[in-house]
Amino acid sequence: MSQVGNLTQFDAAAVSAAYQNALRVIGAVEPTIAGAIGQELADQRGSLKLIASENYASPAVLLTMGNWLSDKYAEGTIGHRFYAGCQNIDTVEQLAAEHAKALFGAPHAYVQPHSGIDANLVAFWAVLAQRIESPALAAAGARQLNDLSEADWQQLRTSFGEQRMLGMSLDAGGHLTHGFRPNISGKMFHQTSYGTDPSTELLDYGEVARLAREFKPLILMAGYSAYPRRINFATMRSIADEVGATLVVDMAHFAGLVAGKVFTGDFDPVPFAHVTTTTTHKSLRGPRGGMVLCQPEFADSVDRGCPMVLGGPLGHVMAAKAVALAEARQPAFASYAADVASNAIALAEGFLRRGARLVTGGTENHLVLLDVSRYGLTGRQAESALLESGVVTNRNSIPRDPNGAWYTSGIRLGTPALTTRGFGADDFDRVAELIVGVLSATSPAAAADGRTSKAKYDLPSGLAEKTLAAAGELLDAHPLYPGLELT
Ligand code: PLP
Repeated sequence: MSQVGNLTQFDAAAVSAAYQNALRVIGAVEPTIAGAIGQELADQRGSLKLIASENYASPAVLLTMGNWLSDKYAEGTIGHRFYAGCQNIDTVEQLAAEHAKALFGAPHAYVQPHSGIDANLVAFWAVLAQRIESPALAAAGARQLNDLSEADWQQLRTSFGEQRMLGMSLDAGGHLTHGFRPNISGKMFHQTSYGTDPSTELLDYGEVARLAREFKPLILMAGYSAYPRRINFATMRSIADEVGATLVVDMAHFAGLVAGKVFTGDFDPVPFAHVTTTTTHKSLRGPRGGMVLCQPEFADSVDRGCPMVLGGPLGHVMAAKAVALAEARQPAFASYAADVASNAIALAEGFLRRGARLVTGGTENHLVLLDVSRYGLTGRQAESALLESGVVTNRNSIPRDPNGAWYTSGIRLGTPALTTRGFGADDFDRVAELIVGVLSATSPAAAADGRTSKAKYDLPSGLAEKTLAAAGELLDAHPLYPGLELT
């Protein structure tokens, strides 16, 4: 059995044999794909992965996805399918839902969503069904939509389109699916955003309450992709209750911290939200996918996700969710989650000690948002210079960003992936040192028209190679999937 760092134990010889054989079978049909799979492992092994939304799933989770559960259609819900022969998918979905309920203390879990976007869409339609459709059906004396008269149906469609959502603004760290125009949620709902306090950059609950009273949303949305702090969900729920809104929390980014009991009490969304959505592949360290947890009154509507907005459930991925959730119920996962949070503090302190500016001045979760304007760079330049140096991050807007959402003024860095490899506080301090070293030495280059470019940059010669070598030392000390050999 192999265990280095925080990754769940695995039998390296068995996993090596499984992948060697699998790649031989795949390569016989399409060698390019076998090559890309092998190369991806090499690339992930050889770079400092600081993308806050990524992780490394265990071999058991990964292997669970490659099999014939994928070949089965199973539209419907557990024990109530529109296809024959779904007994094994029932077993899989039932177990994944049971693990999810036990892990998060949720009354109901729906594990079919294929991604986080899908989970949010299921949640939004469930709220519309519960709060708008059901009362309209009752008023018309109808049991189902097809029983409505054409006039009542037109009226219902109109009232769907009149509903409002209040969510966190994108530049404060909110997500596109929280009512923004490029996503369908922005076409379904009239959206208004709450931002953060201009001086502290922290969520201003008084402002959220003021906007909620004024705007009277159907849905009060909480959750984020790039806000480095905790949210008080008890306060959010009391704001929702005061204005008659439904509280939907998207915990996609921090589900691992909830599962690992780093976020408890008022900071655990599940008891307070009417509906909680998540991805399963970020800090939760499962397969790529989504999930919805809810209070009992929303269960029937949530369970109509397929076929309402989802295609047939992915049996192989639900199975991998069950495996990942079983892993997350182990005590080792709670210590992993605690390490994710303490490593984020070490990373933040490493930056602050070296004179960097962090949005909100620090972190309380798994991510930090570094303001790179201090180095005279855009996020795009910083992201590219770091990538060349073996450090994988992503550029991100900061509050009131003068460079907009494309070039940005920030980079977002997260600790879940490297913590899985076993990085500790000293390693993250060294990561901060390497990043500050690259950014302080990088300068914006001239664009073709002679003006300063927002994308091009100059790195002093040799710095990228030196940083790559230093990153390599850290990576060698914490190997990814130790003992797994592909040849
Ligand atoms: N919600 C939040 C808060 C996210 O950060 C993301 C992805 O980054 C999503 C939803 C969407 O997840 P997916 O890419 O699985 O659709």
